[in-house]
Amino acid sequence: MKIGFIGLGNMGAPMAANLAKAGHEVTGFDTADVSVDGVTRAGTAAEAAAGREVVITMLPNGKILRAVADEILPAMDAGAVFLDCSTVDVESARAVAEQADKAGLLALDAPVSGGTGGAVAGTLTFMVGGSDDAFAKAKPLFDIMGQKAVHCGPSGNGQAAKICNNMILGVTMIATCEAFALADKLGLDRQAMFDVVSTSSGYSWTMNAYCPAPGVGPQSPADNGYKPGFAADLMLKDLRLSQLAAAAVDADTPMGQAAAALYEQFVEKEDGAGRDFSAMLPRFEKRGRG
Ligand code: NAD
Repeated sequence: MKIGFIGLGNMGAPMAANLAKAGHEVTGFDTADVSVDGVTRAGTAAEAAAGREVVITMLPNGKILRAVADEILPAMDAGAVFLDCSTVDVESARAVAEQADKAGLLALDAPVSGGTGGAVAGTLTFMVGGSDDAFAKAKPLFDIMGQKAVHCGPSGNGQAAKICNNMILGVTMIATCEAFALADKLGLDRQAMFDVVSTSSGYSWTMNAYCPAPGVGPQSPADNGYKPGFAADLMLKDLRLSQLAAAAVDADTPMGQAAAALYEQFVEKEDGAGRDFSAMLPRFEKRGRG
């Protein structure tokens, strides 16, 4: 397939490289000066998009996505697929999909989970919103870049699934970390805490697979000085998107709201920036109730 790839950052570069490695003809564009193995560089986003069967975007936020869409959608061939894999607000995802539809294109929002490790290994999970037809066309590419693609319904539903999942993740990580910090103060050994909770009703992915306590449970960023992993900054981004979406549809999400406020405090006022999101545990460890 002839593929355009716009946004060759930490995630986009390895995803584009995997598509090229699988034999696709990939033309890439990024505003930064980057080169990716097997990917031909275009001078503009429109040039990367013109004449391609699929154009993939992997960009920082909804505002940039909208600007890039304004530029590339008019340049794309009718019937081509506009596949956005960025994590953006549901409203921007739906707006660019509508714009693509009006231009005679097929649109998909397909945010990912799996992080940079998953992008390099080609093991991402895609949460996809858009038509059946568009999904079928992009499926072979999802199979190269990832290990699973779930079709969640019409445009915007991929983003909706992503932020709901990550709202659970943020809330659960905080709950797991505060429980560890409480257990510490109650004199409970961390290994005992893990052994009980991981096999009891308090178990979760954050406890069992990504334990925030170093030396306990399977290997996780906690065992690597809380180097991300999944950065607290990105968790804050996703929690904010969840609250933006909740406000737009009048959904009551008190725990999501509290998690967003706590990650904001951690990243913007404390030492959370650039650390893994599980570094909430050393944060709680140092604090009392006041
Ligand atoms: P990044 O900042 O490394 O990459 C974004 C790239 O977009 C950069 O190279 C930047 O130069 C480029 N860019 C910005 N404006 C542009 C424009 N107008 N035209 C072309 N290129 C432009 O970010 P990332 O970590 O690769 O994340 C990309 C997206 O994936 C984000 O939406 C993020 O939330 C999401 N995501 C990231 C992770 C992760 O672990 N990094 C995990 C899941 C989802």
